[in-house]
Parts: sequence; structure tokens; C-alpha cells
Amino acid sequence: MKYDYLIVGSGLFGATFAYCARQTGKHCLVIEKRPHLGGNTYCEKIEGINVHKYGAHIFHTNNKEIWDFVNSFVPFNRYTNCPIANYHGELYNLPFNMNTFTQLWGVRTIEEAKAKIDEQRAEALTSLNGREPANLEEQALCLVGKDIFYKLIKEYTEKQWGRPCTELPAFIIRRLPLRFVFDNNYFNDPYQGIPIGGYNVLINKLLEGIETNTNCDFFGEFKDSWREIADQLVYTGPLDEYFNFRLGRLDWRTVTFKTRVENTPNYQGNAVINYTSHDAPYTRVIEHKHFEMFGQAVYNCPKTVVSEEYSAEYKPGMEQFYPVNDERNNALADQYRELAAKEENVIFGGRLAEYKYYDMAPVIEKAIKTANIIFLR
Ligand code: FAD
Ligand code: UDP
Repeated sequence: MKYDYLIVGSGLFGATFAYCARQTGKHCLVIEKRPHLGGNTYCEKIEGINVHKYGAHIFHTNNKEIWDFVNSFVPFNRYTNCPIANYHGELYNLPFNMNTFTQLWGVRTIEEAKAKIDEQRAEALTSLNGREPANLEEQALCLVGKDIFYKLIKEYTEKQWGRPCTELPAFIIRRLPLRFVFDNNYFNDPYQGIPIGGYNVLINKLLEGIETNTNCDFFGEFKDSWREIADQLVYTGPLDEYFNFRLGRLDWRTVTFKTRVENTPNYQGNAVINYTSHDAPYTRVIEHKHFEMFGQAVYNCPKTVVSEEYSAEYKPGMEQFYPVNDERNNALADQYRELAAKEENVIFGGRLAEYKYYDMAPVIEKAIKTANIIFLR
């Protein structure tokens, strides 16, 4: 047998698993259908700037072990995500915090802000009449009330997910913090940043000394023959595709980007601006240099790269980005998971193969745990 593991996909799950396997002396081949390694973390250098080709990626975690793990390959910078929301030209700080409340209502004290939120929440809670919020709209109205919902959530969410908020699960909105302090840090996690030099440094270090093959589609080359070259398969591609869609297709949301170079050192003054009204067709505009350049460094680099992010329903041939965790898709994914559990010597891992809305740190954690379970057996 040539390899202990054939690993399909070079994103963070595949790369982390490959690293752990190599540490225990296992021999791996990583195949990747794209022309480059790194999955969705891949960055392309344009005008000296690392451009997040598959969407803005900000690393954040509350797990010190995972933070130490990634920092052992590459130090991370001090980037803190503080997106701004633009609603019909009005600017608001995110996540929802005292700055936002001041901008929305002119309130100055914590008491005033709490009173305003409570008054709005009360309206929503009354209409629920004691039952739990059943969808994102009800959940958001109960958490933050109608002013924030209509200006900062409703239209953005509908653009992002292509569905009315009444048809989306409540949990999506529980990801966003609500704070009564003047703190624009989008995440509550104690550890946050961007790898210095970009994510490609992290991926290349994880995969150092491991055989990799890009432009190589598992379904084109290995699906029926992989057992001839490897003992085990680690599959990080789409769950339904592995089974040739035999139970039906899972839905995904996809994202497309219009990226351009602007002839100015500082285009919008922030890495992320969310457009929370329907009049802008994109959900956000990313100015990539602000992830890695701070202070004078912004001006030392004379140009800038800007990406408009558009959200769309997935169609075959597009990139699968976000799982759509509604009832139909969750039930279908469960049926596929039952099939997956019966596959011998195959590990299904990561965002696509688990059909799970995963951030980077939990993906790394899951890959390490999966590897530990196998290698410490
Ligand atoms: P991927 O990175 O998707 O890697 C899977 C790889 O498998 C891909 O390279 C794919 O080409 C390859 N593959 C699939 N099928 C085949 C096949 N048949 N043959 C060969 N190769 C195949 N997380 C954060 O923590 N912070 C963020 O700010 C953040 N922002 C995000 C923004 C966007 C727009 C998106 C979509 C996700 C974001 N995430 C973020 C989540 C993050 O991208 C994922 O957690 C992470 O990429 C998951 O890694 P993975 O290895 O599971 O999947
Ligand atoms: N969201 C919103 N307005 C914003 C930002 C986010 O309503 O300005 C909602 C939206 O429904 C989104 C959810 O909050 O799906 C979670 O946001 P997050 O930024 O965590 O989503 P991601 O882009 O990472 O999937």
C-alpha cells in the first residue's frame, strides 16, 4: 500500500489532519481539485496585498490550545474585526453595542439604552405569548427589537440567505453579540487575528513535507480506485456529492466577489463594511489591506484592493459555501450522515462533508480530535 491516508481537500480540515498524521509517521497524499492549496482560506497577492479570494477570513477562538497550535506555525497579528454597517448611507457600529445604540437613538447612558431595548423587546415577547421564537425574525425581535431588526438585520440577512427571515433558523442570529459597553469588537473570543503574511503561510507550514496534488478531482481520478493506493480516506468535499446525490441534492448558499484595484491607499477606512439595505446589491465590501496593514503601513502601500461580496443560491458548478440548515436540508443531511457512518475506512470531516456552519478554529479542533482518536487508539 502506498499511502496510509488519501486526503480529499486541502482546506483547514484536510491540512490539519494531514499534519497530525505526519507527526505520527503516517504517509499521506492530499488531493485538491482547485489549482491551489488552502480551501477557502486561500489568499492571492495583488498589489502587495493578501486578497482573501473566498471571502474575508478572521481567525477567532476561545480555545487557547488551538490559538497556540496555529501560532506555533505562524504568528498572528492584532487585527480585531470591527465592521461598520451602512444602511441607506447611515453608518452604525457593529456588533450591537453602546456605540450602535447612541447612533440609533441618541441615548448616552447604559440605563437609557437598556430601557430602549427592553421596550422594543417587550413588544416582540408579548406577541409570542410565552412560546419560544420559532425563526430568525422572531428571535431577532426578541433579542434586539424592531429598530435594529429593520435597519441592521432584516435586509442584510435576506440578501445573505435569499430567504425571508421568517423561514430561517433562529440560531443564525444568536451568533451576534449584544453589549451594553462601548466595544466594537465583533467577537467575544479572547484570541483573534490574521496570520502575519497571510493564511497561505499557515497552510504551507501544515502541509510541509506532505505530498500534495492540485487540480486533482477525487471524482475524476480516485473515487472507484482509492482503496488500491491508500488504507483510509479522509473526505472533506460535499457530503451529497460523495454519494452521487442519490438521496437528492443538499442546498447551499454561494458567494461571488467582484474584486478591483483602487488607485488610492485608503478606500473605505475599514476592512469590512456591511450594506444592510436592499438598495446595495452586495452584502459587504471588503478592503483587504486593513487585515494586515495598520497605521502608516496603509499609506506606504499606494493602492488598495476592494471586493464586493454577493450572496446567491448555489447551482451545480458553483462553489458550495454555506449549508442551508433548514428543516428539509437538516433531515436530508441526517440521511446522508447515516450512509456516511456505514462507509468503511472513510472519515468525513469539515464544513462540506459534515454539512455544518463551521468557523476555522472549530474545524481545526475537530481535525485534531479526529486524528487523536485514531492515532492514540
Ligand atoms: P474548505 O476550506 O472548503 O476546504 C475543502 C477543500 O476540499 C476545498 O479546497 C475544495 O476545493 C476541496 N474539494 C472539495 N471537493 C473535492 C474533490 N472532489 N476533489 C478534491 N478536492 C475537493 N471562518 C472563520 O473562522 N472566520 C471567518 O471570518 C470566516 N469567514 C468566512 C467567510 C466565508 C465567505 C465563508 C464561506 C466561510 C468563512 N469561514 C470563516 C469559515 C471557514 O471558511 C471554514 O470554517 C473553513 O474553510 C473550513 O475548512 P474545510 O477544510 O472544512 O473546508
Ligand atoms: N447579520 C445581520 N447584519 C449584519 C451582520 C450579520 O443581520 O450586519 C446576521 C446575518 O443573518 C448573518 C448572521 O447575523 O447570517 C451571522 O453573522 P456573521 O457575521 O456571524 O455571519 P458570517 O458572515 O460569518 O456567516
